[in-house]
Amino acid sequence: MHKLPQPKINLGHWPTPLEPMLRINDMHKGPELWVKRDDCSGLAFGGNKTRKLEYLLADAQLKGATTLLTAGGTQSNHARQTAAAAARVGLGCELFLEQVEGIAEADYSHSGNVLIDQLLGARVHRLPAGQDLDAAMALRAQTLSAAGEVPYVMPVGGSNVIGSMGYVNCGLELAQQVQQQKLSFDAIVLATGSAGTQAGLLAGLALAEVDIPVLGITVSRSSEEQCQKVLALLHEVQNVLKQPRLHEDHVICFDQYYGSFYGDPTPQMIEAVRLAASLEGLLLDPVYSGKAFAGLLDLVRHGYFDSSERILFLHTGGAPGLFAYSDCLGEH
Ligand SMILES: *Cc1c(COP(=O)(O)O)cnc(C)c1O
Repeated sequence: MHKLPQPKINLGHWPTPLEPMLRINDMHKGPELWVKRDDCSGLAFGGNKTRKLEYLLADAQLKGATTLLTAGGTQSNHARQTAAAAARVGLGCELFLEQVEGIAEADYSHSGNVLIDQLLGARVHRLPAGQDLDAAMALRAQTLSAAGEVPYVMPVGGSNVIGSMGYVNCGLELAQQVQQQKLSFDAIVLATGSAGTQAGLLAGLALAEVDIPVLGITVSRSSEEQCQKVLALLHEVQNVLKQPRLHEDHVICFDQYYGSFYGDPTPQMIEAVRLAASLEGLLLDPVYSGKAFAGLLDLVRHGYFDSSERILFLHTGGAPGLFAYSDCLGEH
């Protein structure tokens, strides 16, 4: 495997498995669907942030950090996994969680990820919707510095060049699995938010010289905005890797599956979550993987893929978020 220019520590369980979705494939008789289980990456219920945190924490340790700061929505999976990583290596952790408008559930504010954040020993700062999270972290970092701490601030989703290296590494890991298992995929479908997963994966596959289209299902933005965000980060990553830049045609996003706002519990998401659970024993989440899988099912049903193709769904985790949506997902 290629050696990446950034150091990493080990926080996860690798490689994550590749599995066919046998009963779903049997049901729709379309393209063959497989899943890469990044929800099984380890670190407090797993998810895609484990890979990013392996690189971010190595950098934090190099810089002598004593406390990690990061931000997200109330049910941020990135915040939960950051709290777990901090606990593992013995660093402090402060989380800046923004209330999300449009979701009134009591469980949203107290259960799921935010409950786990507290168990993991993180200090949670709750901010009203629309607050500048970066400014709040910068201010707190100043206070911590003045008190003799060394703060290390990570962006929302851990999606900077360093965090994205985790998904460059995933691209290399996948290339190796495909080769060893003599498999081939015609497309990869994933949820795309802060963009590090899609950007890193594209860069990693290019580095491994594997040409599989990556389709990002957006969770809060228009395709145009999301594609620009992914492309900018992809090019930054490729600069650091000293790799030629991929053309913008490689960045593909679909925005018709997230509903009207981030975390909107759409009927399609609910159907997708129920289907994956009841036919595969696979737990998706309401905000990311449930939306992405709803998108994949819709593309399959509308004949976007040829029935002879094999499609890989990247399961990015997030299942603790299910407990925050008990009103819409449970039976009444
Ligand atoms: C953060 C997250 C994503 C999106 O990954 P980005 O790198 O932010 O685009 C997808 N799925 C889950 C479960 C996540 O927590």
